[in-house]
Amino acid sequence: MTDYLQTPLQYLKGVGPKRAADLQRIGLSTIEDLLYRFPLRYEDRGHLQPIATLKAGQQVAISGRIQSAHLRTTRRPGFKIFEALVGDDSGSIRAVWMNQSFLQDVLRRDAQVVLFGPVEARPGLQLMNPDYEVIDSLDGDEDTATIHTGRIVPVYEKAGSMTPKMQRRLVYEVLSKLPDVIADPFPEDARGRLDLPPRRTALVEAHFPTAGASTELLNQFRTPAQVRLIFEEFFLFQLGLLMRRRAAAREAKPTVVKIDDRIRESARQILPFRLTEGQRTALKEIVDDMQQPVPMNRLLQGDVGAGKTIVALLAALVAMENGLQVAFMAPTEILAEQHYLNLRKLLERSRFHVELLTGTTAGPKRRDLLARLAAGDIHLAVGTHALVQGTVHFKSLGLAIIDEQHRFGVVQRATLRAKGMMPDVLVMTATPIPRTLALTVYGDLDVSVMRDMPPGRRPVLTQVKTESRREDVYKLIREHLERGKQVYVVYPLIEDSEKVDLKAAVAMADHLGQDVFPAYRVALLHGRMKQDAKDRVMRAFAANEINVLVSTTVIEVGIDVPNASLMVIEHAERFGLSQLHQLRGRVGRDSYQSQCVLLYQYPISKDGKARLTALAETTDGFDIAERDLQIRGPGDFFGTRQSGLPLLRTGDLVRDHPLMERARDEAAAFLQGGSPAGPMVAMLKETWPVRFGLMDVG
Ligand code: ADP
Ligand code: MG
Repeated sequence: MTDYLQTPLQYLKGVGPKRAADLQRIGLSTIEDLLYRFPLRYEDRGHLQPIATLKAGQQVAISGRIQSAHLRTTRRPGFKIFEALVGDDSGSIRAVWMNQSFLQDVLRRDAQVVLFGPVEARPGLQLMNPDYEVIDSLDGDEDTATIHTGRIVPVYEKAGSMTPKMQRRLVYEVLSKLPDVIADPFPEDARGRLDLPPRRTALVEAHFPTAGASTELLNQFRTPAQVRLIFEEFFLFQLGLLMRRRAAAREAKPTVVKIDDRIRESARQILPFRLTEGQRTALKEIVDDMQQPVPMNRLLQGDVGAGKTIVALLAALVAMENGLQVAFMAPTEILAEQHYLNLRKLLERSRFHVELLTGTTAGPKRRDLLARLAAGDIHLAVGTHALVQGTVHFKSLGLAIIDEQHRFGVVQRATLRAKGMMPDVLVMTATPIPRTLALTVYGDLDVSVMRDMPPGRRPVLTQVKTESRREDVYKLIREHLERGKQVYVVYPLIEDSEKVDLKAAVAMADHLGQDVFPAYRVALLHGRMKQDAKDRVMRAFAANEINVLVSTTVIEVGIDVPNASLMVIEHAERFGLSQLHQLRGRVGRDSYQSQCVLLYQYPISKDGKARLTALAETTDGFDIAERDLQIRGPGDFFGTRQSGLPLLRTGDLVRDHPLMERARDEAAAFLQGGSPAGPMVAMLKETWPVRFGLMDVG
């Protein structure tokens, strides 16, 4: 039965290899894929209007007979117009199509047609480029149903040579052969509670709604049929998440952490400042988790500069005081190095040994470190992901901290599991996750959020300027340089225009160094450079041996250079809001008044301008993330698939957010209900990660 849904589209009549490839490119390879892809929108072409009642400016559907038709050439060479006069009992109207000569073979005289399109006055009324459908009047009654007109019709995304109209026909044909009974993965009682139609009905209605359905509801994707399919998807997704969580809750860690006054005192000893309220709360949540018998899986969210490191260190201290080792991982060697120096200093007066171990640590040094790690002589190991890979063995790893890498946190957890380790895991990120997405992205993580900043910080003053004010910007740069401060100049680097972008950055570095600020040291940093060259430049900048750093976006997750007080972002109109915010977080890292200039060039859209203005108005990362999400939608919000966002086919995380919450409740109720249907659970286990494009760590 389900076999029908699994039929590859390529085997269907009228598809063939080329169109199948076009469909594949937009993610459609089977009948199931096709049916679970909603139309982009729906058009009501169901109300056939008498021709005599048509008025200019309307979108109308009419039914009539072609009274005459001909192809007309125009003064523009090669430009042809096909014209037809269409009449019904009330009157007639001209319909014109631009450059569609083939229509002379399709819309012949006397053909019975249904047309849908806009009415224009020029000066007589005419239908402009209407959609058309020829009704074959020789057919029996039931076959006279129209597909493209005379009803509410679905409008699909174009897929290469596969036009929306062809896809509409394809879906129609596929639905007409849908078996009477198809398996329904969605539990009957939940369906009843939610008053949603069965799967088969939903599939049909979501594409070809029955007459009288509300196009308004349809276009909001809120009809029972649509909701049913969205809900099915969300339900399965949440069910998978919950099962993953359940599996995790059955794991037991070898050593459960305990906390006492001695440990509290030891924490006080290393603390260089008073924790903020947010830091204290987060720390409490983390330490509470560590005292549980199951491994912690927690995400610590806090804006750039919020002070996540110290919270992580205190958690590490608790683990170490309990005789456990800690791994602290950063995304790059240079960040790892910075963490190492920082942590070593903080732990200076403690009895714990901190070491740095990265991919480049080699030779006897590496062998020595590995031996000491295995012996338990190193308490806190700082490094890159290499820290938990390959030949590295810990004596008793109790806590893994993963910084600025929520995307890979899952993978590393899996690596640890595979090596038989079940440490507590703390992932840290400065990417604020809007509330709307948190439930989905981190469905299997607990989340701590720090919303406050350490005292004394001054929000970065942000200005939006056009390219024509470049001289002012140079003046501003000079002011910062003269006060001994350092400056970032950032260029976008986008894959499509990589060469040009890179050239612009290189040219600007030369120009600034030679012509504008010859008295200062200007250096260039970009992603195409070798890692050690990058590190050299970054280190020199951190040591204040470079005054102006011209860079592509590689500094986004960069190191801490508190002396940098100005950031100029070139082509700011080409960045996303969240990315701009992350970049800006590189300055304003001490009490000096830092500044950020968003330089933009024309053309800039109204939205683009609004985005930049929004950034100038607020420095609250969460606020910015919400706005960004609204503007760009969840898919683009994180930029890539690695985001942890599931691949959804019917649901939209923003539009359908309330349904996701409901789905979570239903999934929980379903699992509570005792023995979940075996086959479905097995199916989920097998297909869930693939289906939603997520890594399986269960
Ligand atoms: P992030 O959350 O971006 O990782 P960091 O942990 O690097 O932020 O902290 C940024 C800076 O703020 C560091 O220099 C750190 O020492 C300082 N800091 C963190 N917490 C506090 C605090 N409660 N009071 C004062 N300074 C703090
Ligand atoms: Mg940090």
